[in-house]
Amino acid sequence: MPDRFQKTRRIVQYTFAALNLWIAGQFLLWVLAFERGVEPTVSRPAGVDGWLPIAGLMNTKYFFSTGQIPAIHPAAMVLFLAFCAISLVAKKAFCSWLCPIGTLSEHLALLGRKLFGKNLRLPRALDVTLRGLKYLLLGFFVIFIVGMSAEVLTDFLSTPYGILADVKMLGFFRHLGPVALLVLTVLAALSLVVEQFWCRYLCPYGALMGLLSLASPLKIRRRVALCTGCGHCARACPAALAVDKLVQVRSAECTACMHCVASCPTEGALQFSLPIVETSAPLPRYRRALTPTAFAILIAALFCGFVLAARATDHWQTHIPDAVYRQLIPNAGQLAHPGLR
Ligand code: SF4
Ligand code: SF4
Repeated sequence: MPDRFQKTRRIVQYTFAALNLWIAGQFLLWVLAFERGVEPTVSRPAGVDGWLPIAGLMNTKYFFSTGQIPAIHPAAMVLFLAFCAISLVAKKAFCSWLCPIGTLSEHLALLGRKLFGKNLRLPRALDVTLRGLKYLLLGFFVIFIVGMSAEVLTDFLSTPYGILADVKMLGFFRHLGPVALLVLTVLAALSLVVEQFWCRYLCPYGALMGLLSLASPLKIRRRVALCTGCGHCARACPAALAVDKLVQVRSAECTACMHCVASCPTEGALQFSLPIVETSAPLPRYRRALTPTAFAILIAALFCGFVLAARATDHWQTHIPDAVYRQLIPNAGQLAHPGLR
């Protein structure tokens, strides 16, 4: 089924990107209404909290410290936990199937290949060193946030700055300063040349998803008896993994993008599955290679399961009265980071 995996992945990627665009549009309309002092015609889309990974980490720490689901930006925690669960079950599929930055990054690399004929692969020593950067950034955030008490977290997220973290984030993109614009341009240019530059070297969120994905029972697995050693899979892997030499791909860099599976010319030699059991008896369905549709359904079920559970238990939306937003949003630009005790 070589191409079906990539087609299915594209459908999932574009659907999730469209969902994010719709959320961004609705959130912009909601913020503009408060800025103009008129009644909003749309409600705040809680899914915007998915763009607040630090709030997600803070709220998760709060939840595990107190056993209580935080009242402000609860969806940040729900989405963070949903993406962690996807990584624990289905490798780092969040990066290559859901994340809009990953989708954009992948398309920049495709454009780069059209413009320059190929993407640049950095020398291995430099590649490994640079890959360490995202783990350093992750370590910084984790140490910082895990060290905060539940009281400090509540204090911070209850400040006007914490309440408007989503509005401030939108403001960052609406009013890009010269430095931010330069940084984004450089990152986009590097992503044209080096495939997945941001994701591969700098994204701490992806680093965390990769570490969790090590526990995933589903992995890319090679049937040595069927493999011809042609090496197509290794050449196709954007993470430059030696798929043709491994029996199973355990790496934290594997995003379950399925490029390797799609490139394999030998039926059944490479598959995404639970551990392979060699037997002459028919295998139960769950033991066979996962089909693209089954994988997409698995990811969608985990994502929707968390979101629907949060909505059903009223732990999805931040319940702040409109009067508070009416007072705070017009002055959001002046709000400075309150600092942390
Ligand atoms: S091993 Fe296969 S699925 Fe994993 S990143 Fe490489 S190409 Fe993608
Ligand atoms: S592409 Fe398939 S047959 Fe070729 S080396 Fe990889 S697993 Fe083996």
